[in-house]
Amino acid sequence: MRRLRLHTKFIVLLTSVSLIPLVIVAGVTLIRFQQSLQLEAEKLGHQLASTAAAEIRTFMATQFAQLDNIASMYHPDFPIEREVAEQLLEVILLRSENLMDVSIVNSEGQEITRKNRLLVITPEDLRQVIGYPSFEAVKETGAYVGPVYVRSGRPFFDFGRRIPDSQGQFAGAVFAQVDARVMPKVVAEISNIVDKPGRIYIVNERGVVIAHPDLSYVLAERDLSALPSVRRVVNDPEHSSNVAESYVNENGDSVLGSTHTLTIELLDLRTEMPARLNWYVVAEQPAASVYGDARRTAWFSLVLSLVAVLSAAGAAVFFAGRISRPIEELHMATVEFGRGNLGYRTTVHSNDEIGDLAVSFNTTADKLSKTVASLQAEEQVTSAERNKLRLILAGITNAVIAVDLERRIVLFNRAAETLTKRRVDEVIGKPIEEVISLYDAKSAISTDTYCPKNTKEPDGVVYSGNDLRIEDSSGIEHIVNVVSGRIREGQSIQLGCVITLEDITRESVMERTKREFVSIAAHQLRTPLTGMSWTVEMLLSGAKGVLNAGQKELVERGLDAIHRMVELVNDLLDVSRIEEGLFGIKTAQKMLAPIFDRILANLKKQADRRAIVLDIQIDPNLPPLEIDEDKLEFAISNLVDNAIKYTPERGRVEVRARVENSAVVISIKDSGIGIPDAEHDRVFTKFFRSRRAKALHTDGSGLGLYVAKNIVEHHGGKISFDSKEGQGTTFRIAIATAKR
Ligand code: ADP
Repeated sequence: MRRLRLHTKFIVLLTSVSLIPLVIVAGVTLIRFQQSLQLEAEKLGHQLASTAAAEIRTFMATQFAQLDNIASMYHPDFPIEREVAEQLLEVILLRSENLMDVSIVNSEGQEITRKNRLLVITPEDLRQVIGYPSFEAVKETGAYVGPVYVRSGRPFFDFGRRIPDSQGQFAGAVFAQVDARVMPKVVAEISNIVDKPGRIYIVNERGVVIAHPDLSYVLAERDLSALPSVRRVVNDPEHSSNVAESYVNENGDSVLGSTHTLTIELLDLRTEMPARLNWYVVAEQPAASVYGDARRTAWFSLVLSLVAVLSAAGAAVFFAGRISRPIEELHMATVEFGRGNLGYRTTVHSNDEIGDLAVSFNTTADKLSKTVASLQAEEQVTSAERNKLRLILAGITNAVIAVDLERRIVLFNRAAETLTKRRVDEVIGKPIEEVISLYDAKSAISTDTYCPKNTKEPDGVVYSGNDLRIEDSSGIEHIVNVVSGRIREGQSIQLGCVITLEDITRESVMERTKREFVSIAAHQLRTPLTGMSWTVEMLLSGAKGVLNAGQKELVERGLDAIHRMVELVNDLLDVSRIEEGLFGIKTAQKMLAPIFDRILANLKKQADRRAIVLDIQIDPNLPPLEIDEDKLEFAISNLVDNAIKYTPERGRVEVRARVENSAVVISIKDSGIGIPDAEHDRVFTKFFRSRRAKALHTDGSGLGLYVAKNIVEHHGGKISFDSKEGQGTTFRIAIATAKR
């Protein structure tokens, strides 16, 4: 259904409120008016019909009275002679205006005399009428009125009347042919009173026309019993009086027909046998004249109503506009708002609830547009972030895989495609375990480990693992470092873990190659070096001839260099053993004091040479420790050696060992060159040498601290340091005391 605008609804409402009562009043008045007009017309119709009926009745009664007079002359007991009676009959016939023919019939139905106004009747003309309907009717009922018929263009009908004897028995009958012109005359005259095409006519008890202004109806014996007014009375003669009906007659005229019963009762004084004649007078008045006034009034009220409609509609349009415009403007504002025109404001200024609504609408609109603007700004930022993230994810070399809370893949970047050799569109939506399988050195790592479903940690790294193995779709193995994390908002955006895999296959292969090379080189160098050292020592011992002072010094320097090379090769071997996991530690319960004695004995000379005070103080109550004596000595000795090496002449090196919180802490403090802050985090890595250290001692390997750290950690201990460039350095080793 089409939606009606509020404005239209108001117009319809206001117009109907003013019009409905008007229409009802006008309608009721019109109907009443029409009813009263109809009543008037009915009354008139009845008056006309009854006037006609009265005239006809009088006429008929007169005719019957004449017949009665004649009958009385032929009464068997009547004292006059037959001839006298016949003369009298002739006189009556000639004087009468209407009687055309009179005959007297005896009780056997034989005409005994007959007189005609125009013809001479001979005894041969007399008829036997027994069996005639007229004779039988008179014999039965005492009276007879025949149908109207026309002869020589004039209407006639036959009358009959019984002649009773003194006992009231049937003694004969008198019949008369009566000129019926008076009947059409009466109906024609009265018809003239009503407007054309109105008419008055008379029908008999069967509905056949007896009198009509149009003579042809009578001649044709038209049956009008189909007309409603006639049908009613013919069908129900008992309730036939004063019937009025509106209908369209046989000529197509719309009429109001009123019917009046024309009863002629003839009372036979002697027999007291009544004869009754039932005819009906119908007066038809044209509906146009009956309801003419009503129609004019209707037109008048229609025009009045139209004027009322127009003025009511005008008023309705005006008021509807006033009432609905602010509402429509508000509606317009909401529609504009809906279309996204957030700058739209209403201009309603009415001093009522609608005005208040408009004000609060505008206020809300202000707030809303601000909110939307900030949301749009946020949206822009978010989308920029998103794009940035997409670019980053596409560009970075690390594989990034994100899964939802059910661990189905929702993000799979290009590096992940390269790593797994799978296409993003084939893995999205799949459970992560169907796409990647991770292994450490020993076994597979379950998804519950690297991406647990229920973790108490809502935010941050949930798993990290290095040097793990993963197979791509073609079965090639990769070495990866894996970090898996979650974000706090994950639950609300259906984001489970974000897993980052760094493919370090190349690096680890290179690293291994490097390690293997170092290991092979060191092993290969050891034998010739041992040989060289042995040879040089033999030269020094003088076994091959005594060396002079210059030669001896030269050979000693050579031996020194060989020793340093042996140390370097040993360091390298240690490193490769550490990295291959072959750095075996064999521990035993040992006291630390002898180690320090040996270190002092070995390095004292070196310290003295550079006028460095080497102060070693060992807590005499140190407990024995579960240690690999040689290796720990190597580590401590290396630290003390460094302290002396990187401390300028006349510096100070303090070595302390004491028990602190169930651990033995060994500290080596110097007043040397220190290590720059920027290099602190690389101190324990392989081959690290600070810039100044390189300048001071060109021959360091940068392996000592790396090996020392590994030794300490293999003892379950910790090594640390603090250092300030130009001020000095302190290294600390802490080894837990053995449980007693
Ligand atoms: P090397 O002593 O053979 O260079 P190390 O592994 O023993 O190798 O030491 C690595 C580096 O750490 C040194 O080169 C030096 O730069 C720095 N370093 C170690 N000990 C000290 C110290 N006591 N004072 C200053 N620098 C030091």
